[in-house]
Amino acid sequence: MNTEELLRFDREHIWHPYTSTTNPLPVYPVKRAEGVYIELEDGRRLIDGMSSWWCEVHGYNHPVLNAAVEQQLKEMSHVMFGGFTHRPAVELAKKILSVTPEGIDKIFFCDSGSVAVEVAMKMALQYWYAAGREEKKHFLTITKGYHGDTWNAMSVCDPVTGMHGIFHGSLPIQYFVNRPECRFGAPCREEDIRELKDCIEKHHADIAAVILEPIVQGAGGMWFYSADYLRQVRELCNSYDLLLICDEIATGFGRTGKLWAVEHAGISPDIMCIGKAITGGYMSFAATMATSRVADQICSRDPFVFMHGPTFMGNPLACAVANASVGLVLEYDLEKKIGAIERQLKTELQPASENPAVADVRVLGAIGVIEMKEPVNMAVLQARFVEEGIWVRPFGKLVYIMPPFIIQPTELSRLTQGLLKVIHN
Ligand code: PMP
Repeated sequence: MNTEELLRFDREHIWHPYTSTTNPLPVYPVKRAEGVYIELEDGRRLIDGMSSWWCEVHGYNHPVLNAAVEQQLKEMSHVMFGGFTHRPAVELAKKILSVTPEGIDKIFFCDSGSVAVEVAMKMALQYWYAAGREEKKHFLTITKGYHGDTWNAMSVCDPVTGMHGIFHGSLPIQYFVNRPECRFGAPCREEDIRELKDCIEKHHADIAAVILEPIVQGAGGMWFYSADYLRQVRELCNSYDLLLICDEIATGFGRTGKLWAVEHAGISPDIMCIGKAITGGYMSFAATMATSRVADQICSRDPFVFMHGPTFMGNPLACAVANASVGLVLEYDLEKKIGAIERQLKTELQPASENPAVADVRVLGAIGVIEMKEPVNMAVLQARFVEEGIWVRPFGKLVYIMPPFIIQPTELSRLTQGLLKVIHN
């Protein structure tokens, strides 16, 4: 099949994320990828500014991750987790739980980020069921959040930017309060938390948990909020007997400059979701973790088990590559490595704020965001980025990058300069 045939077949038969089948946006055929470079079929090489949606933190085709997969392949690529266990799962669990926020010490492996969120929400409901508090079955969240595309995950995504508005009416009804306007680095004033506090005071009796992305809201708005706000959310959850679920699927494994975003606030959640970078982008895999208090309570009442068990739970191939990926993250000096990317992003993206079409420029860890005043034309901009030899995929008013951690300063400069050039035109 030549490239034209490949693209024609793709256009006629294959769905891409959030894409029309009758009028699909163009896609670029990729031949291979190495380090921070994605090579197209026509030989063009693009510097990856997206880490393939937060995952590819060590870059593509990494020798350590390749070796982990190859070695595990020779042992077994899969075995059911019901009734069996294996070294890759146990070693991975041990590694992750040795560095999780205080109190988190049970781990449930699952297949994707959205499933991890479903699992977290089910854990919260089963926790209250076991406590004889079945009325606690709603969730409270903040607007502009994003937690995935499955049913319950959708119900806590922003109803507008979460792109799930058309399912309104079929989705479980949850409580929403406005996202905090206090920025990262700023204090959280009484008025910044008031709406959340009021909602909790009024509805805590039927709320199971507060669920949010800690510090960085990703796909729903690329917003960085005050660590002080998160600290106060934790305190309110304690005072009103609510569980706190932190979705670290995008932020986990160092993206914000700390291993976990909750570290910025010095808090621990009751339930925590991780995914994306867990396998360095090699395989779809995720996990939901909980404190013993949550896990033990769930198992204290009939049916005495947590009611979930996907087919590919604890897949050995995924566990083996996750082990290698997490191992690499733990070897990095994150503050130094991500700190250097952060400083460079701040310096090099700053000039964008002088552009009259730009509303805001913000950087946290290895995440750089340029918020435009008007929504951009994704297809047009994407083509321009490709011409500049960079891979950036904007949405709405947001043009943003979160490069692989292994990016070199010269490569990062090419990425930021290409980005500025395109938005200046
Ligand atoms: N939570 C967050 C914070 C995410 O960013 C995403 C994915 N963008 C998800 C959940 C869903 O993960 P997945 O796409 O792997 O289902």
